[in-house]
Amino acid sequence: MSPSNIHNGITYQLYEDDVEQLEINQNEQSTNTNNDDPKATKTKPYKTQIVWRNVMIMSILHLTALYSLFFVLPVVQWKTIILVQTLVIMFSMGIQAGAHRLWSHRALKANFAVRLFFCILQTGALQNDIYEWCRDHRAHHKFSDTDADPHNSRRGFFFSHIGWLLVKKHPELIRRGKTIDMTDLETDPIVMFQRQYYILLVLLIWGFLPTYIPVVFWGEDPLNSFLACVVVRYVYSLNVTWLVNSWSHMYGTRPYDGNIAPVESTVRHLLLGEGFHNYHHAFPWDYRASELGSLDVFNPCTGLIDIFHYLGWAWDLKTANPSIVARKMELRGDKSKTYKKTRGLFEWIGGVLATIAFIPFTKLIATLLEILF
Ligand SMILES: [Zn+2]
Ligand SMILES: [Zn+2]
Repeated sequence: MSPSNIHNGITYQLYEDDVEQLEINQNEQSTNTNNDDPKATKTKPYKTQIVWRNVMIMSILHLTALYSLFFVLPVVQWKTIILVQTLVIMFSMGIQAGAHRLWSHRALKANFAVRLFFCILQTGALQNDIYEWCRDHRAHHKFSDTDADPHNSRRGFFFSHIGWLLVKKHPELIRRGKTIDMTDLETDPIVMFQRQYYILLVLLIWGFLPTYIPVVFWGEDPLNSFLACVVVRYVYSLNVTWLVNSWSHMYGTRPYDGNIAPVESTVRHLLLGEGFHNYHHAFPWDYRASELGSLDVFNPCTGLIDIFHYLGWAWDLKTANPSIVARKMELRGDKSKTYKKTRGLFEWIGGVLATIAFIPFTKLIATLLEILF
């Protein structure tokens, strides 16, 4: 569990520029006592207000997904299962490589085609439009684990996992959310186009195309196609993403900064490269979201960015200076071990197995049970 002092370490970092001001600096503690420190601000007593519409939607979605796991996955074709799994990975890439590393943290620059590609994938994930996703995520880093963090892990596992979407935003989040600078995204035509036509684009990319493709190309039943390719895929992907906000702020090690809640997550293999969360909060501008490269740990998002970089479509990839990393580990880390490059192959085997474990294995087991009984 978390050490008692973990919430003393708000870093206020989002981009590479912030490092000079805030990192590995003997005066670091003084930055945490400035007037903008959310912990230093006395907030009014806050009563949680449940948004029952969201509770209904999430309950129906999760119950339908649970039903579909047991009664739909066994009857759909394997081609459909492969599509579900592919969509899980692709749309997650849109969130992680696109909304997260490219747009939220400016960890790289990319040409129009790559940004459009990530935008299409991010739309399929249905986790709010890029603009809103980035505003929430920037608040999450800037005011990490305080009332101004949308999924403040101090409010418990359930809240940071899904609960934050079922209640009205905390007044501190509303107030401080307005202070987040979003001007860079306001000048990105792709981001603003997506924001303007978001609902239409979601209906097409999140709902219609994933349902339609199996029906037209291999004759899948339309309802089963919708339940597998949209509902199961969406609920599974949401929960994997939410593990970054919940589990990865609680269970794991803190080799880079022992004073913050995020950890090097024990479920990192499930998270397609977003499980190195202690490193990520310590050095959020690093495009790898990890100290090691795409082949050294299971990090397919970094691999995809590397491919785009190799092709000349992405550039200005930012990484943290190894000497700064080492110094920070010495000053603030919890002295736990970090990952070794030599384990890269095993990390990838574990990652691939964990990634494909849920949906194809569920189909396999459900099909076997049907044959046996
Ligand atoms: Zn986090
Ligand atoms: Zn981040």
